[in-house]
Amino acid sequence: MDKIKVKDLEVFARHGAFPEENVLGQKFLVSVTMYMDTREAGMTDNLTKSIHYGEVSHFIKKFMEENVFKLIETVAEKLARELLIAFPLMEKLDLEIKKPWAPIGLPLEMVSVEISRGWHLAYLGMGSSLGDKKQYLDGAVRALQETEGCEVLKVADYLATEPYGGAAKEEFLNSCMVLRTLFTPRELLERLHEIEQEANRERLVHWGDRTLDLDILMYDDLVMDSAELTIPHVEMHLRSFVLDPLSQIAPYKKHPVLQKTVMQLRSELEND
Ligand code: ADP
Ligand code: MG
Repeated sequence: MDKIKVKDLEVFARHGAFPEENVLGQKFLVSVTMYMDTREAGMTDNLTKSIHYGEVSHFIKKFMEENVFKLIETVAEKLARELLIAFPLMEKLDLEIKKPWAPIGLPLEMVSVEISRGWHLAYLGMGSSLGDKKQYLDGAVRALQETEGCEVLKVADYLATEPYGGAAKEEFLNSCMVLRTLFTPRELLERLHEIEQEANRERLVHWGDRTLDLDILMYDDLVMDSAELTIPHVEMHLRSFVLDPLSQIAPYKKHPVLQKTVMQLRSELEND
């Protein structure tokens, strides 16, 4: 991807773990590499199609001066997040915060923290089999849209499906969505659980009827398996109530383990 860089922007600010740093302040140097597609801006010579590095620099200076954190890790983390939200063309960034005067009582050129952060694509499945099902799905879409650091890109049509698995008795309403998110998979799962809780989901019977179930189907091309989270979702390729709506909004997305597109998985399932 193309890059726009700002190198060693000098800012005087008060971040630090020692009280004197918070009082006296010191010099910080901030460097950022911003990843975006500059093609259209380059072809049209139109600044509104690009990221204005002047605005970015002033944004950084203001952020650095208006906040006080103990750790430059925190400065970097929060500043990266604010930049990605404020400048939507930025797909990802590398951000380095340097402290040339770090008061450790030894001579050094500088200490620094460098992080990379960016937007991810999460593919979510949702289902409801109790109460006003449409309203529960609508509510989930709205809750995610209103979550800072999440942006709902696509939502599939809602699909009425047969109960699945045995414990559930009611007909389900299912759908899928594509989400642009700054959350890690764990953070996203936590947010999904909060939204499920708000929908009063009762976790009484596993696989049973529920007002709202939100699952992470895929997350970029990530493959992970931990006690609380398996991505891609272990059963997604076996469930037509996932593949039908997902093929509407992400037909060519490839399952990173099975190496087949959503559309292929769907037609294989149909032919079984
Ligand atoms: P299910 O979705 O299988 O019907 P739950 O919603 O109660 O059942 O999920 C049970 C647990 O499954 C969650 O608490 C979560 O820790 C775990 N889990 C593992 N992988 C995923 C995933 N990809 N998406 C959502 N939950 C997952
Ligand atoms: Mg679930």
